[in-house]
Amino acid sequence: MKMTSDWANAIGHVDCDAFYASCEAVRHPELTGRPICVLSSQNAIVVAKSYAAKALGVTTGMPVWEARKLAPQAAFLAADFRYYGQMSDKLFSILRRYSPDIEIYSIDEAFMDMNGIRMLWRKSFQQLADDIRRTVDRETGITVSVGISNTRTLAKMASESNKPNGTTILPGKHIARFLSELPVAAIPGIGRNRAALLYKFKIHTALQFAQVEDGLMQRLLGRHGLLLKQELSGRTVLPLQLNPQLPKSVARTASMGGLSQDAEIITAHLSYHAMRLVSDLVAKHLLTRHLHVFLTLASFERCGTDIRLDLSTNSLKRITTVVKAGFLALYRAGEQYRGCGIVATHISKEASSTGDLFGFSREDSRQAGLMLAVNRINKKYGERTVLLASVQRIKTKQHLPRFHYPLLIAR
Ligand SMILES: [Mg+2]
Repeated sequence: MKMTSDWANAIGHVDCDAFYASCEAVRHPELTGRPICVLSSQNAIVVAKSYAAKALGVTTGMPVWEARKLAPQAAFLAADFRYYGQMSDKLFSILRRYSPDIEIYSIDEAFMDMNGIRMLWRKSFQQLADDIRRTVDRETGITVSVGISNTRTLAKMASESNKPNGTTILPGKHIARFLSELPVAAIPGIGRNRAALLYKFKIHTALQFAQVEDGLMQRLLGRHGLLLKQELSGRTVLPLQLNPQLPKSVARTASMGGLSQDAEIITAHLSYHAMRLVSDLVAKHLLTRHLHVFLTLASFERCGTDIRLDLSTNSLKRITTVVKAGFLALYRAGEQYRGCGIVATHISKEASSTGDLFGFSREDSRQAGLMLAVNRINKKYGERTVLLASVQRIKTKQHLPRFHYPLLIAR
């Protein structure tokens, strides 16, 4: 593999460790020592867990009853994106002190342009990365992992390779060895299906991936594969988005990994998409005013519905309620579905919103407190003692079973 010089380009990637659970640990010091599970508020699926909960076997997508069996001593808390957004703002403002050029990638991850930053601080990349970790921990109470390398793809793989609370510095001369120790599935964007395809062609390690001949890569993974290959070789083809334009749309869609006609399974998938959509909007201070909800049928045909919201929002409760209404309009009992998704359009910047004039936003922030209270009551008196009114209405109308189902989430 032909390498560039050690630091032809220097990109950092900072990723919080178990972000939602860590945020909850910060504001609930009384939970110190207990595993933490964060739940999607409405269908009670674990959407994030602390390392302690993970060690007990709790996984993302697990229904709460199953998680309670594995980790009876754990604290179960409803997700609160307004709060996570505030913590993420704090994180990004710390990162901007080190380098003014950062790209907010998700609610708990950012890329940093580190070119010239060693001179500015008179420190090595190792010292800078360790400094960033310590500062974030001291000022927010959350640990992060940091990777620095030649491209964003390598920086992300570097931070991922040493979690939690680790630093990985990957100069050009060490890239080949680093890649030879990782499977192709460790490459961002290579999921289970793509990895399975690559294995068929004897491409097992990330280094083998970087050495695939261009013609074959084009046939296997198309243009995206060629771009990734360049990035793994240390040549930047995916530059940082330092001044992102307002996106036309923000979408969250996925196949369900199999066919299902079960309304509860499909709504669980949709709720998870809604949550990830909201976390993206909150992190980037964006609002949406229009949602397209769709289901993919067994035949790969799509049925969808468009919903205009009364006001621009990034509230999880509002968006989930609307998505559920969309689902009810689309769903036909007995029909088999293979996927679903949500596309948010009419995107605006949060700062320019006039929502507060009507007090809607205030109501949205009260909702978080309400969810926590609901959770506490349920915890004390048993599952589903209290359901939000809207959920109950939907449940009764559809006669849905009062069970939770496992939900597999593809990363
Ligand atoms: Mg993270």
